[in-house]
Amino acid sequence: MNDTAKTIVITGAGSGFGALAARSLARAGHTVYAAMRDTTGRNADRVADARAYASAYGVDLRTVELDVLSQESVDAATATVLAEAGGLDVIVHNAGHMVTGPTEAFTPEELMAVYDTNVLGTQRVNRAVLPHLRAQRHGLVLWIGSTSSRGGTPPYLAPYFAAKAAMDSLAVSYAAELARFGIETSIVVPGSFTTGTNHFVTGGHPSERTVVPAYEERYAGLMDQVALRLAELAPADADVSQVADAIVAVVNAPYGTRPFRVHVDPVNDGSEEVSRVADRIRAEFLTRIGLADLLAPGVAPS
Ligand code: NDP
Repeated sequence: MNDTAKTIVITGAGSGFGALAARSLARAGHTVYAAMRDTTGRNADRVADARAYASAYGVDLRTVELDVLSQESVDAATATVLAEAGGLDVIVHNAGHMVTGPTEAFTPEELMAVYDTNVLGTQRVNRAVLPHLRAQRHGLVLWIGSTSSRGGTPPYLAPYFAAKAAMDSLAVSYAAELARFGIETSIVVPGSFTTGTNHFVTGGHPSERTVVPAYEERYAGLMDQVALRLAELAPADADVSQVADAIVAVVNAPYGTRPFRVHVDPVNDGSEEVSRVADRIRAEFLTRIGLADLLAPGVAPS
């Protein structure tokens, strides 16, 4: 992969980690597409902010309409980027949505909606961009995971945790399947940042009105307690920009040296420890079955 300026698309980049990373990557000299949905409606102000930032800093920060819930939208965004920028080097799977509440209270359809955004959204994007990355024989797929999929798991966040675990699992399998096309994979794993993004503010809830009260009798105020205790655990210097910095560091690392997984977890919920074992087992097993070359592009077949 060319280690100079890259063309990068970040999904869900109107707020939070995505917006910060888009700006940091643009300042680092890359052409960055901050992809957002509803760019002419609800997110029009975010588009204007990005434009203002680009002109204030003289950087190549652009926006593109992209709703991860729609294959049509994802395909159109990909076509726009390829036509405008003439290529694409890095895709950042960042769009996500959290819900909170007792697990039983979510209808299957509500659970499906959480998977749709956090899991199936990445598949829509991959099916649009990977043919291009495979054809050019280089690229980076950077997934924004979550420590929740392997670290300490507080209750009332199950649909989101399950979706992020599914996304992580997809990322791990994809990594091996893309390596022989020269495509690298990195998973940036943030811990809980209760401020500085819209993650907790915009979190959804189950719509039904019978199960929740039954749980409230035994677990009164639990959700607020969980959020509060997570916030209390965070050290004073925990800053969301650490996640953007980690994303920049991965993108800027030379081809072949990018880490498979990077944790940014000021709370230290234990995910890093579990992932270290899981990723080691994966590497050992692929090696045992003679597929060590799938661990990263450029690794010699065993
Ligand atoms: P934000 O809510 O600020 O960012 C999420 C972004 O995703 C929003 O801008 C949202 O846009 C966008 N999005 C949601 N649905 C769609 C969609 N259908 N199409 C396109 N964009 C969509 O929170 P964060 O910055 O915290 O979240 C970014 C990523 O980080 C997520 O994947 C999240 O799971 C992950 N993460 C967050 C942690 C935290 O504690 N903050 C911890 C670990 C991981 P819109 O406003 O239009 O809905």
